[in-house]
Amino acid sequence: MLEGRIYNFSAGPSMLPEEVLLRAQKELLNCEGSGMSVLEMSHRSKVFDNIINATEANVRKVMNVPDNYRILFLPGGASGMFCALAMNLGNHSGAADYIISGNFSGVAYKEGKKYLKDARVAATSEDENFSYIPKQEQLVLNPDADYLHVCWNNTIFGTTFHYMPETGNVPVVADMSSSIMSEPVDVSKFGMIYAGVQKNLAPAGLALVIVREDLLGSEMEITPKIWKFGMQAEKNSMINTPPCFNIYMVKLVTDYLLEQGGLEAMKARNEEKAKILYDYLDSQDFFKSTVRPEDRSMMNVCFRTGDEALDKEFIAGQAAHGFSNLKGHRLVGGMRASIYNAMPKEGVEALVAYMKEFAAAH
Ligand SMILES: *Cc1c(COP(=O)(O)O)cnc(C)c1O
Repeated sequence: MLEGRIYNFSAGPSMLPEEVLLRAQKELLNCEGSGMSVLEMSHRSKVFDNIINATEANVRKVMNVPDNYRILFLPGGASGMFCALAMNLGNHSGAADYIISGNFSGVAYKEGKKYLKDARVAATSEDENFSYIPKQEQLVLNPDADYLHVCWNNTIFGTTFHYMPETGNVPVVADMSSSIMSEPVDVSKFGMIYAGVQKNLAPAGLALVIVREDLLGSEMEITPKIWKFGMQAEKNSMINTPPCFNIYMVKLVTDYLLEQGGLEAMKARNEEKAKILYDYLDSQDFFKSTVRPEDRSMMNVCFRTGDEALDKEFIAGQAAHGFSNLKGHRLVGGMRASIYNAMPKEGVEALVAYMKEFAAAH
């Protein structure tokens, strides 16, 4: 890590690779020989057109997106998509199913319900404070639903889907905000994948949407123009001025991912990092994992001591060890270490060393 930087375990916005930040810095005053910054550039310029097309090509390559899927860059982050999804995909039967496996999937359901005729909860793990992912056998699915919504990785609670829900012909829509590009996924199994980009890809405010072409073009009348997926697909995500800098940052991050060997390489790295932390958690009983082992997230690792005063003391000591943002979300308490693509292995090792030192001292 560069001098003066610290291991930032924030759940989002979160760390970006230093190589990417340095490249953005270098190109900031003069982007691609244009004599101006991407921050100052017309979105109708040739230079920006090249940037957005290259970003899309990169996303397609990194995630191996099939040709019958469109890639959109939309304003409003993941929360905007909670609404846009219902308005764009929920206009056939007007019914949709939601698996509630955490906070964001609950918000997605509440937002979708405003626009859908028949939003249903297919399953929820609220009974155990979202410490697990509902299993296939628990799902009550509506065969007429326009889609099933899942939150693939539960950022706040630290759980992940390790199975693909079977829905027959009903498209599965996944919020992958906190796991996007952390490992390969088979895009063809999903009707739509979307992500707020601030966890693993870029600065906040932009949503990346990957949507199957045949699901476009049947949106509700009330859909805001800037969120009409079909129209945005036609207009190359530029109905209005898009978040140009964020899109450019997605380009730099995906350039970086390709250089690093793509998502297979990221998966290997992320597995190695998560294993260091979970192996330690499993090896002692001072710190406790807050989730079922089979549903553990590779990106967000939640743990606590069981004593709120000790948790507080642990968090208070983070700055002195060169860490930040280890405090868990208030819905879970305790600690949370978010270890996205850009968190180096050394950061996780340093955290485990601090945990050992703290446990020994108490
Ligand atoms: C962070 C996050 C969101 C919210 O993203 P915004 O871009 O702030 O709207 C939604 N879903 C998940 C899974 C998240 O991690």
